[in-house]
Amino acid sequence: MEAHDSLGIVGHKWAVKLLRQAVEAGSVSHAYLFTGPPGVGKTTLARALARALLCQGEEAPCGDCRACRLVASGNHPDLHVVESEQPGDSLKIDQVRDLQHQLSLTPLEARWRVAILRRFEEATTSAANALLKTLEEPPAYVVLAVLARDADTLLPTIVSRCQQVNLHPLPAPQVERALVERWGADPEQAKLLAHLSGGRLGWAVRTLEDSAGLQRRAQRLDELGELLNAPITARFRYAERLARDPIATQETLDLWLGWWRDVLLLAAEANAPLTNIDRVSALRDHARRFGVERSTALVEAVRSAADHLKCNANPRLTLEVLLLDLPRP
Ligand SMILES: [Zn+2]
Repeated sequence: MEAHDSLGIVGHKWAVKLLRQAVEAGSVSHAYLFTGPPGVGKTTLARALARALLCQGEEAPCGDCRACRLVASGNHPDLHVVESEQPGDSLKIDQVRDLQHQLSLTPLEARWRVAILRRFEEATTSAANALLKTLEEPPAYVVLAVLARDADTLLPTIVSRCQQVNLHPLPAPQVERALVERWGADPEQAKLLAHLSGGRLGWAVRTLEDSAGLQRRAQRLDELGELLNAPITARFRYAERLARDPIATQETLDLWLGWWRDVLLLAAEANAPLTNIDRVSALRDHARRFGVERSTALVEAVRSAADHLKCNANPRLTLEVLLLDLPRP
């Protein structure tokens, strides 16, 4: 079996250790900030912390007591999960106020009330400022887990009041093993997903369970191939359409970054593992066509577009600039 901690977490050993020691020593912080790319394991870790705090069994988290079962089914009255309606929407001030009202009441079943705030980079400025009040004077029984992609997209005053736990992607072989051993994936599929996931186990598991994700990827990579042979007008139409959907934009940029990085690795004859292992012949073709210099520039261009979007640049203009940078037919 894939070795995993009693919290049931694959990887992230040091973070698990840090949290377990805090729970055991009774020195849990009132606020944690879990950062890392989507699907890396932030929510899983925050839920494990909640289980450890709310469990009423002998060895927390036992996984078996009423509290553990309520946490697992998402129904524990002392665990609150707050997030925007769907990824890409805003987390609003009313949601933070509702949470604050619930946190003002002493716990119903446990010693703690735990709140998990997902994708907090989506919080509006007023929602973030509202949360700051709780961070400044948290009730003694409250533990907050604020989750975000990056600390630098949040108000510095929020970051400074949390204990930051930055989760890094796992090595591909660890993701591959976990997919086979814990999620019953077949070995070929596990290998592809592990490479595509960039070490984000949560992403790999979601994609394993929902094949639409892989189909979307295939379609977007096909579109990238077509864009390379398309005139500027067609590229701008593509930018306009894509920019309307922030999640699709983010996903597409992640894919392109992985693609051009692979092309660069092949062009530079670097002996490093590729991400898109099911499309090696197309990658080789691009490596021959664009060479090291061009593929380096493309990696940089995609990265800089992603950075601009993080700082709220206009998505359509950003994508247009990026597509102008693509080699012309
Ligand atoms: Zn328990």
